Amino acid sequence: MITWAKMGRLQPKVSKMLTNSIQKDRVAHAYLFQGSKGTGKLSVSLLFAKSFLCTNRNGVEPCQECKNCIRIESGNHPDVHLIQPEGQSIKKEQILHLQKEFTYTGLESNQKVYIIENAEKMTTNAANRLLKFLEEPSKETVAMLLTENGQSLLDTIRSRCQILAFQPLNPENMRQRLIEENMTETTARLMSALTNNLEEAITLSQDEWFANARKLVIQLIEVLQNKPSEALLFINNQWMDHFKDRDALQQGLNLLMIWFKDIVYEHVENDAAIVFINEKERIQKSTYHWSKQQATSALTYILEAKRKLVANVHPTLVMEQLTLQIQR
Ligand SMILES: [Zn+2]
Repeated sequence: MITWAKMGRLQPKVSKMLTNSIQKDRVAHAYLFQGSKGTGKLSVSLLFAKSFLCTNRNGVEPCQECKNCIRIESGNHPDVHLIQPEGQSIKKEQILHLQKEFTYTGLESNQKVYIIENAEKMTTNAANRLLKFLEEPSKETVAMLLTENGQSLLDTIRSRCQILAFQPLNPENMRQRLIEENMTETTARLMSALTNNLEEAITLSQDEWFANARKLVIQLIEVLQNKPSEALLFINNQWMDHFKDRDALQQGLNLLMIWFKDIVYEHVENDAAIVFINEKERIQKSTYHWSKQQATSALTYILEAKRKLVANVHPTLVMEQLTLQIQR
């Protein structure tokens, strides 16, 4: 069950603002929650709705047990409306329907909440309709507009909302969220080292190209350790064949960087920081090959290679140079 205590760790600023407004009984008429996917916008809005409507609140925490809490949790509270795009957009009719619902008196009180997911997908007509609605707020109505891209909303709508920015998750929170999404610890660690976008992490974890990229990085390490004279051949025959463009190669270099960081962590016995936890034996072998100092230099070379790619140096050349540099 999501609580403010838990949400406070994931989104400290946003949680503090919202719980304060409840405690001080200064809830705004409209909020705009903006942040990338997976940052908890919908969870926060439902939690906020619970705190707003709970009949047995403990401080700011909703009881999670009263009729209101239970109905919000199961998505069928008569005074909490969730609007989502129908197809590609949110249409004027959906907003009109909402407005009509809101003219009725609430079943138990007059407190009403509506949440608009992907608010940037409102058609112009829908947005104008919503604007009228926001212009005549009822004292006990709370609107929450959720979006990944607040800039694409009408300024007139934005200006009527209290805007709250949801932060990207830090690697530790990201890892936990991914495990909640049924990812294995090993994969979750790797993904949270690569991205702070939840959706991207999930897509990447299911991607065959990425799985092969990971294998190639380990193969490159083995070649560098055991048959260094064949390293350039490996780059030309196998590596470049898989990392076909600059973006792909950047991703390959990101993985290589994680490997060398792991070597450094293994040297300093910081097990908790190691990303490739299921390759522990291989990392140990790497520490015999690269000292802490050499692994650190390798990291510098990899960063340099990444910069050269951005500066349009030929990818094969970048990779060949890098291989020679980290070969020792
Ligand atoms: Zn309750």
